[in-house]
Amino acid sequence: MSAILDGVTAARPPCVLVVGLDCLSPDLVFDRYREQLPAFAALMRQGTWGRLRSTDPPITIPAWTCMMTGVPASRLGLYGFRHRRLGSYVEKYLANATHVRVPRVWDVLSRAGHSVGVLGVPQTWPPAPVNGFLVSDAPAAGSAAFTFPAELEAEIERAVGRYRFDVEGFRMADPDRVLDAIRAITCQRFELFRALSASRGGDFLMMADMGPDRIHHLFYRHCDPAHPRHRPGHRHTDVVLDFYRLLDAELARTLQGVPAECHVLVVSDHGAQPMLGGFCLNDWLIARGWLRLKQPVPAVRDFHEGLVDWPNTRAWAWGGHCGRIFLNLRGREPDGTVAPEQASAVLDEIAQALEAQQDPSGRLMGNRVLRLGGPELPDPAGDPPDLLVYLGDMRWRALGSIGHTDIFQQENDTGADDASHHPMGVFIHRGPGRPQGHRAGLRLLDVAPTILSWFGLASVDGCEGRVLDL
Ligand SMILES: [Zn+2]
Repeated sequence: MSAILDGVTAARPPCVLVVGLDCLSPDLVFDRYREQLPAFAALMRQGTWGRLRSTDPPITIPAWTCMMTGVPASRLGLYGFRHRRLGSYVEKYLANATHVRVPRVWDVLSRAGHSVGVLGVPQTWPPAPVNGFLVSDAPAAGSAAFTFPAELEAEIERAVGRYRFDVEGFRMADPDRVLDAIRAITCQRFELFRALSASRGGDFLMMADMGPDRIHHLFYRHCDPAHPRHRPGHRHTDVVLDFYRLLDAELARTLQGVPAECHVLVVSDHGAQPMLGGFCLNDWLIARGWLRLKQPVPAVRDFHEGLVDWPNTRAWAWGGHCGRIFLNLRGREPDGTVAPEQASAVLDEIAQALEAQQDPSGRLMGNRVLRLGGPELPDPAGDPPDLLVYLGDMRWRALGSIGHTDIFQQENDTGADDASHHPMGVFIHRGPGRPQGHRAGLRLLDVAPTILSWFGLASVDGCEGRVLDL
């Protein structure tokens, strides 16, 4: 009797399954490889899909955290993995879960009494308590605890053996060995997700895997004829396609038996595109007189703040997928040279010079410079850089290293690299509603409020995404 009444009065909680694939490319899934990816193609046919606009900056940290809160990176105060403490030349930190001060989807659901399971999502270490289970990303120290509850580590070991977070030093090692490791880690991640979903369950279950990101950085030139270093007929020509097929097979296995009324999301934090080369941002600042070193460096070396002649420096940079430029601001930095009233003019000058920069063939690079605290990124929290620099829409990587004879380099200064991030990622949803096919205008910030709406919950303070009608 009571069971029948329960069925009438209490709606069953929704079930949500999120498969996060870092750097998964919409160009490859939706277009080039679609015919060869039956599981992805079936989900698209049965649901709603489109390109997902990432955040600024479109990099792994902060993008996954933005996706799981609906809050833009500048409001979260997250500008990458590494951060510089404002006002210090030397104090730096890595942004982990303790730097996320807004509840993520699984925190909100846990507090509302829903059960959750989270596996491998970036920026989840150290693991925080949830109403369910959480397996974090790689700990800062190798042996630190990485699961909630703690005893889950033993269950993981029994289910899939030693858990692997990522390929160590993937840019430096032999590509064939790295390829085997990437494939093994991806398979283990999916297998563990299925095992934990079966053994522990949850109203909300999410996994993330770094495999596609690693594959793109190492092998993208072989899959894209438009890549400047593409060589037709190379033995690695099909590596990327084969990896996408592996993802497709794992996805098919994972979705087996998932009921039709369940919401399934396949998402990526950003996409991929050919990396044309590196642009030496600090050497460029030196050549134009904004940055001065205590003495010239005789050979290429990593940039270090200790090399800088601060009383004669107005700005310096960090490299990465996008460049970060810091102003040596009087009253903020210990040896600040730029008066606060001049700051805006100096930043404009740097931005204009970057936007006018030509590539080696004499064409405009198409650089875009975003001002933190400007109209696009107002009131930045945390320790923001002063400028974010997208070089040629990120087709060029920003190199922080110094002492190059040429501002343009073929390769990344942190090891092998074929791919840059693209600001558009993947969004595929299948759920109880009517399939809507292709959808334009989807944003990464819309994912969290949409998931919470399925549970009848409001989005978190500061969320700038909207609820998608799916
Ligand atoms: Zn990523």
